[in-house]
Amino acid sequence: MTRILHRSSRSAPPVAVSAQGAWITQADGRRVLDACGGAAVSCLGHGHPRVVEAIRRQAGQLDYVHSGAFSNQAAEELAEVLVGHEPGGLAGAYFVSSGSEAMEAALKLARQYFLERGQARRQRFIARRQSYHGNTLGALAAGGNALRRAPYAPLLADAFSHVSPAYAYRGQQAGEGEAAYAARLAAELEAEFQRLGPDTVAAFIAEPVVGATLGCVPAPAGYFRAVREVCDRHGALLILDEVMCGMGRTGTLHAWEQEGIAPDIQTVAKGLGGGFQPIGGLLIAGHVLDAIRDGSGSFKHGHTYVAHPIACAAALAVQHVIREEGLLAQVQSLGQRLRQGLEARLGQHPHVGDIRGRGLFQAIELVADRDSKATFDPALQINLRVRDAALEAGMICYPGGGTADGLHGDHALLAPPYNASSAEIDLIVESMATAVETVT
Ligand code: PLP
Repeated sequence: MTRILHRSSRSAPPVAVSAQGAWITQADGRRVLDACGGAAVSCLGHGHPRVVEAIRRQAGQLDYVHSGAFSNQAAEELAEVLVGHEPGGLAGAYFVSSGSEAMEAALKLARQYFLERGQARRQRFIARRQSYHGNTLGALAAGGNALRRAPYAPLLADAFSHVSPAYAYRGQQAGEGEAAYAARLAAELEAEFQRLGPDTVAAFIAEPVVGATLGCVPAPAGYFRAVREVCDRHGALLILDEVMCGMGRTGTLHAWEQEGIAPDIQTVAKGLGGGFQPIGGLLIAGHVLDAIRDGSGSFKHGHTYVAHPIACAAALAVQHVIREEGLLAQVQSLGQRLRQGLEARLGQHPHVGDIRGRGLFQAIELVADRDSKATFDPALQINLRVRDAALEAGMICYPGGGTADGLHGDHALLAPPYNASSAEIDLIVESMATAVETVT
């Protein structure tokens, strides 16, 4: 009998007692290959000695100070590493404890940016359907995940509206090229600006590669350049949510680097601290920082654990390891191996509709019928059954999708550590194939 309110109150999950590298050991002694790093979190696997040592050292030296009274060296260095030499005009950082907190802070920063500039009418946000930006009420209102929003609808602010996701597998029309699809989506965003009144919109919010809701869906080429142009034309900010797809997961430090644009505000979390500590953050363009610095002089926001020294020290160590061990190149090569393996083993499977993603962020979408792309009946919970079958085969993947609206299928998401071995990647492919073949 557990006293914890688990995600399922009917069956408590197995207890994990230790983890090393890409492997988690359960209380019953079973070892499981962690192919998704929780929810794309553990980018260096588990127990990395340099990160463990950095946490130990920081805890012994300076465990906590309130950010209203003190800064700390770990946070200052982390900000320098993240925005000191990076592309895109990002100039400042703000550290919180999770992705949802990062999105809350992004919404407030965008709103305050326009207040500082005397544009109080800008209080609307446009995001996309079938997106997820976090579970706190602001972030949930921004998100377009119908199932997660439904129970809390009366609590969600009506400052948010939603346009179509960039989801080629289901959204691109027959005979429509990639460029035309991107242009059609940008035209829809433009129309939404016009409907709301362009001078009332504070920001457009999007994940460069959609994670949890759709399963590793990159946008068609040219989409982000086109939506950046729409935002610029109307003086609105572009907020990119890289909580899941960022910090190296797609093979570049930021997923937006592959799109030829840069955001005004970026949220990061999972891979920032790699799960060694809870940490999220904002990376902020210079002109947004300047509006605060030259205006009221203070960001009207805050939490008790902003810029927590131990969390920042852990994230700093994670970022050093990524750079010094050349892990972005490894994400690219292992990502190719993973993708090719999945395509070779499952590309022709009658219930695998799509295999997609970037770098070590890959997913398969499962469908009842490959030709019509019909989704499975959600009551079948195919995504959970595939997860369970994978577990049986000794590997854990991250299940998603499978909502009743038929707008997208079930999916299984894979996000192995950047420092996984080739043999582990091959084992992930084999276990995934076994799971899909067992269930469908
Ligand atoms: N944004 C995206 C894109 C996410 O995938 C998530 C979590 O999965 C969040 C925000 C919320 O992050 P957290 O769960 O750390 O609050």
